[in-house]
Amino acid sequence: MTEFDYDLFVIGGGSGGVRAARVAAATGARVGLAEDSRMGGTCVIRGCVPKKLMVFASAYRETFDDARAYGWDLTEGPFDWARFSGQLDAELDRLEGVYRKLLNGSGVAIFDLRARLADPHTVVLADGRKITAKHILIATGGRPVRPDLPNAQLGMVSDDIFQMKQLPRSILIVGGGYIACEFAGILNGLGVAVTQFYRGAQILRGFDDEARGLIAEMMGEKGVDLHLGTDILEMAPATDGAIRVVGSNGSDRTYDAVLFATGRTPNTTGLGLEDLGVALGRQGEIVVDAYSQTNIPSVFAIGDVTNRVTLTPVAIREAMAFVETVFHGNPTPVDHALIPSAVFTQPEFGTVGLSEEAARAQEPVEIYATSFRPMQTAFAGRADRVMMKLVVSQATRKVLGCHIVAPQAGEMIQLAGIAIKMGATKEDFDRTVAVHPTMSEELVTMKTPVRMA
Ligand code: NDP
Repeated sequence: MTEFDYDLFVIGGGSGGVRAARVAAATGARVGLAEDSRMGGTCVIRGCVPKKLMVFASAYRETFDDARAYGWDLTEGPFDWARFSGQLDAELDRLEGVYRKLLNGSGVAIFDLRARLADPHTVVLADGRKITAKHILIATGGRPVRPDLPNAQLGMVSDDIFQMKQLPRSILIVGGGYIACEFAGILNGLGVAVTQFYRGAQILRGFDDEARGLIAEMMGEKGVDLHLGTDILEMAPATDGAIRVVGSNGSDRTYDAVLFATGRTPNTTGLGLEDLGVALGRQGEIVVDAYSQTNIPSVFAIGDVTNRVTLTPVAIREAMAFVETVFHGNPTPVDHALIPSAVFTQPEFGTVGLSEEAARAQEPVEIYATSFRPMQTAFAGRADRVMMKLVVSQATRKVLGCHIVAPQAGEMIQLAGIAIKMGATKEDFDRTVAVHPTMSEELVTMKTPVRMA
């Protein structure tokens, strides 16, 4: 019998790879992990974590205004990007250190190098070392892509935002997905003049239409200059590092910066996958079965590189299910149903289950929805509105979808998600006593459907 160097070799030190490595090592397995960039991956280094800290930073502007309305005597000073980003860098260094410490503490051997597969049980490191492993797990994530457009390299992608030396005075954000809409709110809050081009009819395609409509309206209300059905026709360098952009809406303007938030692609190039015959899908993603196993039995893949549901907590779930399957001998498929998630737009969006549109296409439904001005900001004279919406099956009475546009909607949907995952019916929601006065009490007090569909 061949003796391998490791029981598991993981390529990629992001949320999925690090979790799989640690948990596998805890079973007594000998585990190695290669990462050629910073430990922590997209989420920790150039995604969720720094993004959320930027959301917090950007929200203070409205907080200052509200505080004055509540009687506080405040003098607002300018936002100091250099101070904030210095603090942000220090925090990311700290978190990267935590990730390394966790791996070291679990006995995982770390290789700070790029790795590629040479055969079903061998990886080759960038320094030429060959390492054999019984199982290889690919957790290399994804990366942002620019559109195929002359001079597109003049624009930034989301990775670059965290490295900016100074804030631009104006920016054009291209795209209508999570990243585009989140950064539109962040940069607008930090005082940057934000223009957003989205090629489709409404931002956040795939989510509930009423939620999308309210978010788009509120983003406009807060100062984002959003143009729907609009794309870049031409972009070219202008003076002083600015970028001239001609839009399909007839606009011809220069911006200090352009951000392409036009999607992400799986990191599957240069890994030796084609030579090995690992099956790839149309987007370049690694094709896996319900147990995250590829067509090469010793090779598994989890997280964004598989392009299933590209969210950090899902990659972590996939890591746990992989370890349970392979190292505990308990075949565990990954459950991708009813995943609650939040989009950190301003206002924030929390969502779980089916949109009204998807549910209607599936079966007869009742829609419960309410939109109102929340107490806290209404008192301060702000026009902000929140929305609470339940999509209910007429046949089973189960809540098929819940959509919340409100401050802290991400926190709320995590809790509503438990009830919905358990199969709660509308009557279960109704039996629950309201917490008063809150915004989320509306979820249990909506008595009459606004429509049957
Ligand atoms: P998305 O796929 O969500 O959005 C990409 C956007 O770019 C879409 O609006 C798309 O338009 C548009 N687009 C694509 N190609 C072009 C083009 N050539 N020209 C103009 N517009 C284009 O990707 P993101 O990059 O925003 O985010 C990637 C993933 O990361 C998300 O799907 C999500 O899973 C994850 N994420 C999660 C977050 C969270 O949980 N809060 C935060 C950030 C990211 P169209 O709709 O027409 O295709």
